[in-house]
Amino acid sequence: MTHHTRLVEQLQQLDGKGYKAYKIIRGAYNFPRFTLKIDRVQGDPFAKPSQCRVLIPQNIAGFPAALYANHSRAVGLRDFLTRQFHQLAQQRQRRSGTGNSGLIAITQPGPEILERTAAFIDDEQVELRFWVGLPARGRRIDGWQAADLLCEQIPQLVEGLLYAQLSTQQLQHHIDTHEDADWLRQQLSHQGLVAFVADGAILPRRSGIDRRPLDAATPFQSPASLRVEFHCPHRGAITGMGIPEGITLIVGGGYHGKSTLLKALELGIYNHIPVDGREYVVTNGDAVKIRAEEGRPVTGLDLSPFINHLPHQQNTTQFYTTNASGSTSQAANMIEALELDAKVLLIDEDTTATNLMIRDRRMQSLIAKDQEPITPFIDQICPLYEEHGVSSILVMGGSGDYFEVADTVIALTAYRPENVTGQAHAIAGQYPSDRTCEAGQPIGTHQPRTLHLNPSALEWKGRPAKVKVHELREIILGREAIDLSYVEQLVESGQLRAIAAAILYLHQSPPTDLNFAQAIRAILYQLSTDGLSALSSFPEGNFVAFRRFELAAALNRWRDLNLED
Ligand code: ADP
Ligand code: MG
Repeated sequence: MTHHTRLVEQLQQLDGKGYKAYKIIRGAYNFPRFTLKIDRVQGDPFAKPSQCRVLIPQNIAGFPAALYANHSRAVGLRDFLTRQFHQLAQQRQRRSGTGNSGLIAITQPGPEILERTAAFIDDEQVELRFWVGLPARGRRIDGWQAADLLCEQIPQLVEGLLYAQLSTQQLQHHIDTHEDADWLRQQLSHQGLVAFVADGAILPRRSGIDRRPLDAATPFQSPASLRVEFHCPHRGAITGMGIPEGITLIVGGGYHGKSTLLKALELGIYNHIPVDGREYVVTNGDAVKIRAEEGRPVTGLDLSPFINHLPHQQNTTQFYTTNASGSTSQAANMIEALELDAKVLLIDEDTTATNLMIRDRRMQSLIAKDQEPITPFIDQICPLYEEHGVSSILVMGGSGDYFEVADTVIALTAYRPENVTGQAHAIAGQYPSDRTCEAGQPIGTHQPRTLHLNPSALEWKGRPAKVKVHELREIILGREAIDLSYVEQLVESGQLRAIAAAILYLHQSPPTDLNFAQAIRAILYQLSTDGLSALSSFPEGNFVAFRRFELAAALNRWRDLNLED
C-alpha cells in the first residue's frame, strides 16, 4: 500500500498534465486513520466521477458492536452512516473547476431505510463507497486541488463519521425505529393482519415530487373496532389500525384520503426514517401494488383466470403481446405477482381498468358472457383468498359491488377512518347486486414459465451490454429500454441499478433446471446470504436492495425476454 504523502506528491506532479494522466492514481493509500482506495478513475472531467472507498478500522471508528448486532440493526446503522456522509458532503464548499471538479458524493437516500452498498460495518472496519470528481482546469489536471480534495477534505469528512462525532441519541433512535418496524412487520402474520397503521402517523406527502411529510396534516387515528396494540422492543406500547387478512375495501368520498392511505400501505413494505411520519406504518413484505399499465409487453403468461376467448382466437394460456390493453396489462400484473407468491394485492380505483374490476348486472344482461373475454376481479377475489391465502386491499369509492365479498370495509371521512363493515353488509343484503358469478379458469394453476435469456440482447460485439438507469423510470440494457415508471414500489434508482446487475448476473450464470420464479428466488436467496455486493465483482457503491417482485417486474417488461414452458 502506498503512503498518503506519496499520493500528495503524485498529484502535485500531475498538475497541468492531460486529464487521462490521472489514471495512475488508481490504488490503495495508507492514511494515519484510514485507508483510501481509488477503484476507478474517470477519463475526463465531465465523465462519471471516480469511485473511491474509505476503510476506517474499528479501533478508530469506535462503533459499539450492539449497534450492528443483527441484520436489522446493521442495515439501520449502515443507512445512518450513508445519510451522515451525504450530509457532510453536501455541506462542503466546492471550489470551481471543469465538469465534476471537486465533487464528493454518495448514493442519495430517500425516506426509506434500505440496505445499500454505500456503507458497510463489521468488527474490523467501517467502509464507505462514494464518488469524487477529480479536479480540472479546462481539460488539464488541477493537481493541487486534487491533493486538497483527496488528502485534506476526505480525511476531514472521515472524522465526521466516527462514532464519537455522531449524535448517539439520534443514531440510537434511527436504529431502534428501524428494528421496531421490522419487528412489527414480523408480528403482522401472528396477529392475522396484513398491515398496521400507527395512531399519530402522518400519511400525506408535501407533493408528488416532495416526499417529506405534509405540514399540518391530520394525524392518523384508528377506529376503535380495528384498533390493535403492540409492545415494540424499543418504543414500547403502540396502538393503531390493524388491517386483517382477507378482502378489505377502502371507501369514502373523493379527496378524503383514500389513495394517500393506500400509497402509505404500498410503501409500508419498507421501513422509514424517524421523521417521515410513516415509520410505524408497516405492510406485509409480500404486498404488491397492482395497476393497469397500457402498452407494456406480456411474455408467455397464462392470463386465462381473467381473460379468455379473445376475438381471433388468441391463446390466453400463453399470452404474448408487445402492447397490452388496460385490462390485459392489469391481469398480467396480477398473474405475475401471484407467480412470485404475492400475499397481498393493493389496488386503487384511480389506476385500474374498470372492466377488469367490475361487470354489473345491467352490463351482464346487455353483453352476454360469451361475448366478454374478461372475468372481472370480483369473481376471482374470494377464491384468491380462500384457496390461496392472498389478501386484497382495494380503494373503491365508485362501486358498491364489492360489499358482498369484503371482509372489512373502511370508510374515510376527512382522512378519519371508520369501520363500516356492518353497514356495508346490511346494504348488500338490502340491495343485492344480482350479479351472476362469472368465474373463469381457476387462479393458481398456471404453467411455470422457463427463463431463456437471449445472449445477443445482453452482448454487443462480444462485450457485455451497456447498462444505464434513468432515475426511477427505466433501465437501458443494451438496445432495449425497460420501462419501470409504473412499478410503483421502486423508490431509489439504486434499486434499478441492482436489478440491472441481477439480470446480467442471471445471464452470466444461467440457472439450470429452474423455472422463471425459481430462478428469481434463487438469486434473491443468494443475495440474502452474500449481500448485494455479490452482484458485481467491482465494489459498486450504488446498489440498493430490491424484492423478488421488482426483479420479476423488470424481466417481465423487457422486450427481449424469452420464456417458454
Ligand atoms: P382520494 O383518493 O380519497 O380522492 P387522496 O388520498 O388523493 O384522496 O387525498 C386528497 C388530498 O388530501 C391530497 O392532496 C392529500 O395530500 C390530502 N390528504 C390526504 N390525507 C391527508 C391528511 N391526513 N391530512 C391532510 N391532508 C391529507
Ligand atoms: Mg384517489
